[in-house]
Amino acid sequence: MDFDWSPAQRALRQTIIDTCAAHPAPEPDAEPAFPAALHRALGAAGVLGYGLPAPYGAGGGLLDLVLINETLAEHAPHAVSPCFVNQVCGALLAVGGNKAQKEELLPQLAAGSLTMAFALTEPQAGSDAAAIALQATPEGGHYRLSGEKLYATGCWDADYIITAARTTAEGKASRGSSLIMVPREATGLTLSRLNKIGGRDHASCHLRYAQVQVEAGLRIGAENGAWPLLLVGAGVERICVAATCIGAVSAALRDVVAFLQQREQFGQPIADFQAIRHTLADLATRHEAMRWLCYRAAWLAQRSGPAAAGAVSMAKLQATEEAGAILLEIMKLHGGLAYLAEHPAPRRLIETMLAFYAGGTAQIQRELIARQVLAAR
Ligand SMILES: Cc1cc2nc3c(=O)[nH]c(=O)nc-3n(C[C@H](O)[C@H](O)[C@H](O)COP(=O)(O)OP(=O)(O)OC[C@H]3O[C@@H](n4cnc5c(N)ncnc54)[C@H](O)[C@@H]3O)c2cc1C
Repeated sequence: MDFDWSPAQRALRQTIIDTCAAHPAPEPDAEPAFPAALHRALGAAGVLGYGLPAPYGAGGGLLDLVLINETLAEHAPHAVSPCFVNQVCGALLAVGGNKAQKEELLPQLAAGSLTMAFALTEPQAGSDAAAIALQATPEGGHYRLSGEKLYATGCWDADYIITAARTTAEGKASRGSSLIMVPREATGLTLSRLNKIGGRDHASCHLRYAQVQVEAGLRIGAENGAWPLLLVGAGVERICVAATCIGAVSAALRDVVAFLQQREQFGQPIADFQAIRHTLADLATRHEAMRWLCYRAAWLAQRSGPAAAGAVSMAKLQATEEAGAILLEIMKLHGGLAYLAEHPAPRRLIETMLAFYAGGTAQIQRELIARQVLAAR
């Protein structure tokens, strides 16, 4: 067992830190805007190519994606969502795309010159993804799409929206759905931006498809073959989300330790009170546990793919629940300052709360874990 990053992975982490430092986050009250300059700079530095197979990208595996998302969440939280949404879309293309699609699209994703979004959730189909109803009717060399998608993140600035659609009306969606890349500018597609409390630089949208005609050549994978691809995408998304929670807590712990060492009450730095020292010890221990559960799940999934789904759900569940609780505790340790709008602690908690939903909620992760526990005994 090797618990250390390789020299190449250490260099990758430093590259991300340097690239983020050259593109500071926008002011909190700035108009929300896709962080295009940083995204392209991450592409130029080779960061966005990880997880995409060579020769189209840099190769690498889930542990590299963990390192990237953890580091971004710590140093440039506004760049996280565009990066991991592209990683999930890249994984769908890498596994299901044909040679021509990979040759054309993966190098552009790696360069940061092409962006994609992913639309599965619908108004009536959230946790129950198999309840999707958006229909794609085959017509000669085209599909005609009708229906709605909700929450799809990154659509506003995307070139393509990978849309999960029913291509067989009857029977289970898991056997009768396909993934279709819908161009953002397709006629009949309308997008409304949702008014989110966080992640505002990467807009989530309500999409309405009114008889949208899309070439059949833009389907990823086989017709009715969406579900095995979605399972791969879900695994990548859950691991990446867990990693972002680790990075957010790293940054929050660093800030609160500096504050507690500098701020004095009762004639001494607050960090010298035993009650506070023990709280910090507990938070650091819980942070360490998040890290190792996530790293091990990524390592397992890298080796055995969907068979590691239970471990991946455990990592996602524990990282999101712990991040929510730890970031709230850290807000309290900052005292009244953290109730001020400009303080980074509440903003970090709100941004990290996206992890509660992306890749499925805590209850859904528990359900997936329970299935594996019961099947194994
Ligand atoms: C900011 C944001 C960005 C998102 N981005 C995307 C995206 O890019 N693409 C995309 O396709 N989707 C996206 N989503 C959707 C996300 O995947 C869903 O929000 C999530 O799967 C939960 O679905 P829901 O919100 O409809 O909640 P619901 O499914 O309605 O659930 C409501 C509550 O009931 C619980 N619940 C539901 N079923 C069960 C059960 N069987 N047992 C116990 N409890 C249950 C849930 O855990 C939750 O607490 C995004 C969501 C948000 C908030």
